[in-house]
Amino acid sequence: MQVPEEYGGLGLSNTLYARMGEIVGLDGSIAVTLAAHQAIGLKGIILAGSKEQKAKYLPRLASGEHIAAFCLTEPSSGSDVASIKTRATLSEDKKYYILNGSKVWITNGGLANIFTVFAKTQVVDSESSVKDKITAFIVERDFGGVTNGKPEDKLGIRGSNTCEVHFENTRVPVENVLGEVGGGFKVAMNILNSGRFSMGSVVAGMLKKLIEMTAEYACTRKQFNKNLSEFGLIQEKFALMAQKAYVMESMAYLTAGMLDRPGFPDCSIEAAMVKVFSSECAWQCVSEALQILGGSGYMRDYPYERMLRDTRILLIFEGTNEILRMYIALTGLQHAGRILTARINELKRGNVSTVIETISQKLRDSVGRTVNMGLTGKLGAVHPSVADSASKLEENVYYFGRTVETLLLRFGKTIVEEQMILKRVANILINLYGMTAVLSRASRSIRVGLPNHDHEVLLANIYCAEAYYQNLFTLSQLDKYSPENLDEQIKKVSEQVLEKRAYICAHPLERTS
Ligand SMILES: Cc1cc2nc3c(=O)[nH]c(=O)nc-3n(C[C@H](O)[C@H](O)[C@H](O)COP(=O)(O)OP(=O)(O)OC[C@H]3O[C@@H](n4cnc5c(N)ncnc54)[C@H](O)[C@@H]3O)c2cc1C
Repeated sequence: MQVPEEYGGLGLSNTLYARMGEIVGLDGSIAVTLAAHQAIGLKGIILAGSKEQKAKYLPRLASGEHIAAFCLTEPSSGSDVASIKTRATLSEDKKYYILNGSKVWITNGGLANIFTVFAKTQVVDSESSVKDKITAFIVERDFGGVTNGKPEDKLGIRGSNTCEVHFENTRVPVENVLGEVGGGFKVAMNILNSGRFSMGSVVAGMLKKLIEMTAEYACTRKQFNKNLSEFGLIQEKFALMAQKAYVMESMAYLTAGMLDRPGFPDCSIEAAMVKVFSSECAWQCVSEALQILGGSGYMRDYPYERMLRDTRILLIFEGTNEILRMYIALTGLQHAGRILTARINELKRGNVSTVIETISQKLRDSVGRTVNMGLTGKLGAVHPSVADSASKLEENVYYFGRTVETLLLRFGKTIVEEQMILKRVANILINLYGMTAVLSRASRSIRVGLPNHDHEVLLANIYCAEAYYQNLFTLSQLDKYSPENLDEQIKKVSEQVLEKRAYICAHPLERTS
């Protein structure tokens, strides 16, 4: 869909690609098969391919005559991409690379004709020393030595093809290096970063369908002489699904819009936030939808148990949510670090005026302050209907900024090791991005007079209030001395369990005498 028109594709913008994702998302296996082909399998050729590579490969990939796959993961290398062992060695005549290695869990691995393969190659650096670096290659099945294993028996997306792919002395012409020799890590990250945002619209599409399916059931199934839809605990589930769909849709289209701006802006943090948010909401909402049907939801006669199994993969592939949370937090902190370095250095050196300024700032914060960043009021971008939520966002942003400064001062570069802290930083950032997206969308919907904008205001205000209170709690957990911070206890429990590799409490029926 995003292959440029000159190569026979539709040349869709990121926004239109997201729109198509809503339809594709109605079936998990189809969504994954298509994504493996176009969002990761052939994307490298669009992003990093030469003119000749594009002309040679894209037309038949765009028409579907050829299927693509993305081959990165190996038995000993999952999240740790840099540790891959597949190797490509330049032939003596320097015309070919000889590719050897095995990849696992490759979507479309059994169907694909064209593979984007990542392998270690020897690269001579500027100081003339030889180093192993990752290089990306376009590999045709017809090059020879390419085989695949049988389809994996998976929990979900069982209609998609996932298998091992082996390369044995596969001769890959040097013209098929994708991007620069040694630049494969960047190619892989660019491919993965460029497609993640669409998970938001894919899941939103699925949730909208799910709401329709379960609403029909809830409005007709009677228990205790009432329709299920009359019970508060069932109503709550519909509000949850609508709210999550609204937020992820807003985040996904905001990100797609930014990506469509000229100059290829880097939206990798935003895309990662959309992926984490939408994958976790998918899992939560499908589970709640299944619950609306009670026992019927558990039965294979209905599609809900399949949808539940299908959605579980979203938290694992395209970068696990753990790795993405670290990426979101560390990239954000790196940016903050660059801005705050001078001030933090002054504080460390004990510069009297900076210290006094910081203490008085903290005192003012502790008695509560009104934060005004200009979102509301006459010149503000936010509509008065969501002004209270905008003030909540402004307050969260201010105190988050203060917390980030404290964290950087406390940990410096060693913050990289503080995963529980980084996770909280990422969670706050995801909430702030979600709040920004819904406030912007709801304000526009009111101003241009879209139908049901009152409903949008409700959803935006509910989400912002929930995110605001979650953020306040998370901010308090980031304070070393607050009672909400249980990190030390959590680490201790984990250490004790992992030391024995078991649950170590005595059985409740155990007696000492
Ligand atoms: C159905 C399916 C389809 C797939 N399709 C493809 C494909 O088309 N192409 C392809 O190349 N790959 C594919 N994959 C592989 C997928 O991308 C990997 O499974 C994923 O990257 C995670 O790697 P891993 O499974 O080895 O887990 P690991 O990296 O071993 O991680 C295990 C757990 O530890 C966590 N973890 C790891 N490192 C850290 C850390 N530093 N800090 C905190 N937590 C950490 C992870 O988040 C995870 O929860 C597919 C996988 C599946 C299941």
